[in-house]
Amino acid sequence: MKRICVFLGSSSGAQRGYLEATRDLGRELARRQLTLVYGGGNVGLMGELAKTVLKEGGEVIGIIPQPLMEKEGRQIGLSELRVVASMHERKAQMSELADAFIVLPGGIGTLEEFFEVLSWAQLGFHGKPCGVLNVCNYYEGLIRFLDHVVAEGFLEEEHRSMLLVGETARELLSELAAYRSPALKRWINRQQI
Ligand code: AMP
Repeated sequence: MKRICVFLGSSSGAQRGYLEATRDLGRELARRQLTLVYGGGNVGLMGELAKTVLKEGGEVIGIIPQPLMEKEGRQIGLSELRVVASMHERKAQMSELADAFIVLPGGIGTLEEFFEVLSWAQLGFHGKPCGVLNVCNYYEGLIRFLDHVVAEGFLEEEHRSMLLVGETARELLSELAAYRSPALKRWINRQQI
């Protein structure tokens, strides 16, 4: 693994723990010489992660759509900032560049971007690991919901198990590094009741 794409909030969240865990991930990425690929923003957890990686001497590639770039104020001196035409182009470049994906706490934008790469893993379009960093148990409800989706027959257990979960940056990065994508039997359960 050389480059890790992280999806995370453009807000900082209500608990101090979210910022602290974001900085911890930033330090760990720099320590392991893993390049951060992210949305290019300088606000919320996004900005905090990028600033931490840079401060620790790491590399950061930001990919930002032009309309969001226009809203951004001060830039934070990323190693590389790619300004693209659309969200679609941003997501395509992120998924191509990265060797693995992590989701930190965030809102609708974060969830949408992470679930897109997870659904592409399910379809077998890529074999890259996708992991949830379950900071302050933020994603507990979502993880339980996915078990419900399995129980209700809308998700295969083998696809559910593609989603890695870690409580700390160290633990999750080790899980991502050890991940081998399964040889999928099928990508949709077409079985009828
Ligand atoms: P959210 O989780 O709803 O806060 O959205 C986070 C996602 O929204 C990011 O990954 C970006 O796609 C996008 N986003 C929102 N605000 C910004 C910003 N100021 N700069 C760059 N991307 C942003």
